Amino acid sequence: MSAIIVIGAGMSGLAAASRLAALGHTVTICEAGPITGGKAGEAVRTTDAGCFVFDTGPSLLTYPAVFHELFADTGTPLDESVQLRRLDPIARYRFADGTVLDSRAEPAVMQDHLRARLGAEAAGDWAAFQRRAALMWRAVEGPFLRGELRPTDLLRAAPRWPLLPAIAPGRSLRHVAHRYMPDPRLRMMADRFASYAGSAPSRIPAAYAVIAHLESAMGGWYVEGGLRRLIDAVEARAVRLGANLRLDTPVSAIISAGNDVTGVELADGTRLAADVVVSTIDAGVTYQQLAAGLGHGARRVRLAARRRRLGAAPRSLAGFSMLLGVRGATPGVAHHNVLFPAEYGDEYDSIFGDPARLPAAPAIYVSIPDDPHVRPDGFEAWSVLVNVPRHDAHGARDAVDWTDPELRSAYSERILGLLAARGMAVRERLEFAIIRTPADLEAETGTPGGAIYGTAAHGAIRSLRPANRSPLRGLFLAGGTVHPGGGLPLAALSARTVARAIGPARR
Ligand SMILES: Cc1cc2nc3c(=O)[nH]c(=O)nc-3n(C[C@H](O)[C@H](O)[C@H](O)COP(=O)(O)OP(=O)(O)OC[C@H]3O[C@@H](n4cnc5c(N)ncnc54)[C@H](O)[C@@H]3O)c2cc1C
Repeated sequence: MSAIIVIGAGMSGLAAASRLAALGHTVTICEAGPITGGKAGEAVRTTDAGCFVFDTGPSLLTYPAVFHELFADTGTPLDESVQLRRLDPIARYRFADGTVLDSRAEPAVMQDHLRARLGAEAAGDWAAFQRRAALMWRAVEGPFLRGELRPTDLLRAAPRWPLLPAIAPGRSLRHVAHRYMPDPRLRMMADRFASYAGSAPSRIPAAYAVIAHLESAMGGWYVEGGLRRLIDAVEARAVRLGANLRLDTPVSAIISAGNDVTGVELADGTRLAADVVVSTIDAGVTYQQLAAGLGHGARRVRLAARRRRLGAAPRSLAGFSMLLGVRGATPGVAHHNVLFPAEYGDEYDSIFGDPARLPAAPAIYVSIPDDPHVRPDGFEAWSVLVNVPRHDAHGARDAVDWTDPELRSAYSERILGLLAARGMAVRERLEFAIIRTPADLEAETGTPGGAIYGTAAHGAIRSLRPANRSPLRGLFLAGGTVHPGGGLPLAALSARTVARAIGPARR
């Protein structure tokens, strides 16, 4: 039996702890904050009218198979812990020319919908793009997404090598989407998938089109009561299996003897011994702060190389959100709504420009769950989210200073104005508004600059996230900033990969 310390109690930390405890290890989770969940947070506001509950992080669940598998592997089925609801439409897209397109759960229904709204040719283009995305999925799923990308994984993937040209190596998501789809509205819908990895569509590899396939083949899902309930369920699973969850317990350093990890040091100076440490916090923080100066010889050199590579990589985009208590019911809205500007390219040029700028007319994402558990009768709970540059208070050229109160209020006014201009006026019906900036995410979860996905997946090399196995023996990395990537399902998949790499406890 090994003593294992998991740093961080977000989705990946809780999933890793559940799997490792189920494998017979003694697991301690050290979480810096007072609650679990990390980026998958929740805000609750009680008013005279009743209680509003908002997901402050994820609002759309994709690839649910990963969670069914996590629960099956560690005990009882997922359905006994949370109630998942398949969304149809998955999202409603509104365009500046007045077109409204739904992303329908059934591909055949989607085809009919697109044919009716945009014509047979555009519907055929979308279907062809989806076929290509499905082929990409066959190429990258399995050993690539579910392995460590080590030479042995790549060898095991040999039967899929002939499929690799399908991912259009060297091409961007935008390049491939534009090749298939002349219609600017379909191009915008495809561009939007780059946001799911915090990156620009013109720089992210074409293989990210698999997100289109994930949505169309496996659906978009909601968790009744809010996505936070999924975190509660994984936390309960970890604790039931015996993991010791320590809240308000920030780790300040990983400690080692030579090239072997021996435990962690807490912010109060306490040392906890461990045979294995799984860090699920931002990979840059793990290497640049917690593991700084560790290792000997070649392993020390490899650690330094990882630090340098992470230091040089561009950071992912961040999110500016407004959580709104809204009186009345809004006609014509879906659970998820995306309001596009007339010109979509400017959003990414602004965020990843030099210097970074706030997008003047970003796409606006509005989530309005039709769920009585999250709002009082007669009200709606809106989560409004736009992509923005990360936070930095010291003048970094790829960031803005989100602690500036004027910026906060001016940008929220701008977004309310844009909502009205795009047909979703809400100002007159506001009960309250909670504003959340990338600086808030940084303060609450230790995410540097609030950059949701760590580094941006720009270019073939940089889109390969830091490995799950570190150069130090006994130090593993999981989470949304390492392989295979960000978002709840991939964060949970990284936990699976790490648990398999560690293996069952020896008795
Ligand atoms: C606004 C927003 C919208 C999103 N939308 C979606 C979506 O719709 N669908 C989707 O799938 N994903 C979405 N995501 C992404 C998703 O939330 C993340 O990829 C995922 O939750 C990452 O989980 P994690 O465990 O890797 O990291 P985190 O959630 O960041 O967890 C890390 C934990 O470590 C703790 N910690 C940090 N430093 C220390 C330390 N030194 N010692 C101890 N503990 C520490 C933190 O407090 C935190 O609890 C969204 C994220 C945001 C912010």
